[in-house]
Amino acid sequence: MIIVVRNNADKGQLENLLTWLKGQGITPHLSVGTSQTIVGCIGDVSHVDIDLIRALDVVDSVQRIQEPYKNVNRKFHPEDTVVDCSGPKIGGGAFQVIAGPCAVEDEAQLLAIARGVKEAGATMLRGGAFKPRTSPYSFQGLGAEGIRLLLKAREETGLPVVTEIMNVQHLPLFEDVDVIQVGARNMQNFELLKELGHTRKPILLKRGLANTLQELLMSAEYIMAGGNPNVMLCERGIRTFETSTRNTLDLTVVPVLHRQSHLPVVIDPSHATGHAWMVTPCAVAATAIGADALIVEVHNDPAHAKSDGAQSLTIAQFSEMMEKVRRIRPLACRDR
Ligand code: PEP
Ligand code: MN
Repeated sequence: MIIVVRNNADKGQLENLLTWLKGQGITPHLSVGTSQTIVGCIGDVSHVDIDLIRALDVVDSVQRIQEPYKNVNRKFHPEDTVVDCSGPKIGGGAFQVIAGPCAVEDEAQLLAIARGVKEAGATMLRGGAFKPRTSPYSFQGLGAEGIRLLLKAREETGLPVVTEIMNVQHLPLFEDVDVIQVGARNMQNFELLKELGHTRKPILLKRGLANTLQELLMSAEYIMAGGNPNVMLCERGIRTFETSTRNTLDLTVVPVLHRQSHLPVVIDPSHATGHAWMVTPCAVAATAIGADALIVEVHNDPAHAKSDGAQSLTIAQFSEMMEKVRRIRPLACRDR
């Protein structure tokens, strides 16, 4: 249920309403926007007399919400959420490009890529320390050492770092990381999502290989329900019958999610396509359709990358991609 508060409502009366709602076992979430103030109500509202609330002086209108997701719902929070990633902001008109290797391999590799992508205009550095590989015989990542190298690259370049968590027990290792990624394979690891909800870290939540947008939003709801408002939704391609791409890039998520939710939407054209030559056109399209950020895999030597080399751009290719993204960005759709 959402309660739209009358403009210029009396503060004391609004406080009384919030206290009364709490007394009814409801958790009220106040969202103060530039044009509207809204109270989103979470809990069992079936017993609440809507007409009684409607009749209050401070209340403009009351609406029951049909969707199972509440905190992430645009109706609860009409203004775009802006996530502060230790400086760079994502959402609400602020756009960033996150770039870096699939996996952190060694110090020289990471620093060369970090310097290169920064020079080309990336504002955040990605790199996997814990890698979810399909085969147990593939490179599994450097683990804690990978995180140490990311923090070193941040110290040198100033770029905030994004890296994936796979195991809730590793959370203490992520204390100094700027953005924690939840990979596609962990989108419904609910115990992990609950723990991340108890932090205030920005979370980049990737859509699962075969998950609907409603399921993605419910996973984001797990994080927000725990009290963490800093969630970004990421489309990285879904499993379909098509074989010419690694996954199918569903760009329709951008307008759909922007309508259903206030959370920023990030597009990953690398895992979506699986081929470096497709990454730039898809990055440009994602920018044009109104994505709030891109996350792109870049390697200084893709042919010898320990993971996802085929979809990794060279630094020069990334620089060309950035040029095109910069040109298209002023034309991006801002429809909500
Ligand atoms: C990654 O970002 O390298 C990764 C493994 O992503 P995804 O979870 O989207 O496959
Ligand atoms: Mn990868």
